[in-house]
Amino acid sequence: MAEEANPFENLQSQIDDATRHLDVADDVLERLRYPERVLETNLTVEMDDGSIERFQAFRSQFNGDRGPYKGGIRYHPDVSRAEVMALSGWMVYKCATVDIPYGGAKGGIALDPAAYSEAELERITRAYATELRPLIGVDRDIPAPDVNTGQREMNWIKDTYETLENTTAPGVITGKAIGSGGSEGRVEATGRSTTIVAREAFAHLGRDIADATVAIQGYGNAGSIAARLLSELGASVVAVSDSGGAIYDPDGFDVDAVAASKAEHGSVVDHPGATEYVGNDDLLTLEVDLLVPAALENAIDGDLAPEVRADVIVEAANGPLTPRADEILADRDVLVVPDILANAGGVTVSYFEWVQNRQRFAWTEQRVNEELERVIVDAFDALIDIHDREGIETLRTAAYVVAIRRVADAFEDAGSFP
Ligand code: GLU
Repeated sequence: MAEEANPFENLQSQIDDATRHLDVADDVLERLRYPERVLETNLTVEMDDGSIERFQAFRSQFNGDRGPYKGGIRYHPDVSRAEVMALSGWMVYKCATVDIPYGGAKGGIALDPAAYSEAELERITRAYATELRPLIGVDRDIPAPDVNTGQREMNWIKDTYETLENTTAPGVITGKAIGSGGSEGRVEATGRSTTIVAREAFAHLGRDIADATVAIQGYGNAGSIAARLLSELGASVVAVSDSGGAIYDPDGFDVDAVAASKAEHGSVVDHPGATEYVGNDDLLTLEVDLLVPAALENAIDGDLAPEVRADVIVEAANGPLTPRADEILADRDVLVVPDILANAGGVTVSYFEWVQNRQRFAWTEQRVNEELERVIVDAFDALIDIHDREGIETLRTAAYVVAIRRVADAFEDAGSFP
């Protein structure tokens, strides 16, 4: 790949793009470009065969000016210090874009979870939770799911923390199973905000999402739920992919059937309804109205961006476009709804889960979804407004302008200590 694709440099370049629209002092901006602290640890865990394995793990706490650090935990072989630093920064600006009272963090363990038994994953997760214990807490840092983690891992982390602290503290982590203090609507929340902003983006262009054809890269939590909810709005999902490959059907998929065959066989490529198998890059460059990258960072770079044929891109993944791709797509008038708004449904419903945990009072799914709709639509409208009013070139930069102003205000309002 010709272009340098370091996610932390991408984050810094996104912040830099916003600075010329901001009246924020350089020394304040400088502290908003780096994490406050990064834990790097080596977990030593016994495997089922009695051997010992080492796992490199991280937690980056980027900024806590607006509230407790908040963000998910990722299990993936490519997890690195630079990646968690970037992801933790994106959490800061995501929480500020949708105006929920959190800072940002992110953690990860460098491993392929498919290579380990459930018992091994539980020991690895509990070893990681033990290392995290001094850093996390209901009012300090609240982890959540991210790539390849879900309710099971959150429940283990909560249990480890509560056991070591000799207390009950469901609000120490979000994305738990309902029976362990999780919230209705949390599993669907990232796909739901992706769908809400797609609907709003099409309405903004004077078009109806019900008439749109859609390609979705990634069929994990965010991608598969977005596929279902977009289909419910009448959109036609014509292409989907996962790490096993991509499938295409110009007549549109029955997305529930795709999800069922993935659950049964492990990949969308085994879906019997596919008319064509295409490569990952082919999916990203299909002639569709809406493209939803819902996998990992840097999916579309400066080489691929000129080939993209979608009119609208909604980023369900974190960091799927490189800065060069962003520039090219903006020049070509492709409307990009940035990750820090589009996938903010996840952390927004995490916030609702945390509020419910603090109150020890559970909301209905209807209430969760209504509050989420309000938060996401208000944030979308605010970005369109500032984009038009201040002549900001992209919705991403508009989001950073709004978010950085909020974080800088909180920092300056606090005064200095000591
Ligand atoms: N991992 C999700 C994200 O990237 C959710 C984080 C959270 O709920 O704290 O936004």
